Amino acid sequence: MARYRDAVCRLCRREGAKLFLKGDRCFKPSCAIEKRGTNPPGQHGAARRKMLAGYGQQLREKQKVKRIYFILEKQFRNYFEKALRQKGVTGENLLFMLEKRLDNVVYRAGFTTSRRQARQIVNHGHIFVNGRKVNIPSFQVKVGDVITVKEKSTKNPHVEGAWSTAAGRGRPAWIAPQGQDLSVAIATLPTRQDIDGNINEQLIVELYSK
Ligand code: SF4
Repeated sequence: MARYRDAVCRLCRREGAKLFLKGDRCFKPSCAIEKRGTNPPGQHGAARRKMLAGYGQQLREKQKVKRIYFILEKQFRNYFEKALRQKGVTGENLLFMLEKRLDNVVYRAGFTTSRRQARQIVNHGHIFVNGRKVNIPSFQVKVGDVITVKEKSTKNPHVEGAWSTAAGRGRPAWIAPQGQDLSVAIATLPTRQDIDGNINEQLIVELYSK
């Protein structure tokens, strides 16, 4: 599968917001946004920051959400087409599907400090859903599912470290930890309030509806 391989902090600076792509560093003063501000990267970055409207604004919003969830264009478009066919508000349906991806749940549960790491440990078979290995990052969780880390991998220092600091980073209410073990249950479906408030999903709907 194709992957984005450039320095990820540039993506945050391009979108002018912290997208939390790099794990621990995103929560430290060494974060590129904290150090350099929100101007786009490059020598003339500051000059390129201008007020966007219409198509430009819609495009940037779509790019931002794709980058937050680490999804390429084709798959993102497929999510939108599915959201369109569902009942309810299309933009919210889109975000709910992204939020219920297994790699996102692994990150939001606190097993890792970034979605990239989460995708990797899912791909490598370290994650179980209801006791069965699931190595598909796009797997959609449902209410009642129990997500655990493979027993052998619970001693991985990255996973252990991420889990021990997860409460400080904030865990959404729809993902309920099961005691001290590296295990969470899907208590409810996510609501719009559980998802980053800086996303304006309506702009994405407008972009794809042209
Ligand atoms: Fe973005 Fe994290 Fe890099 Fe900060 S450290 S710019 S939040 S990826």
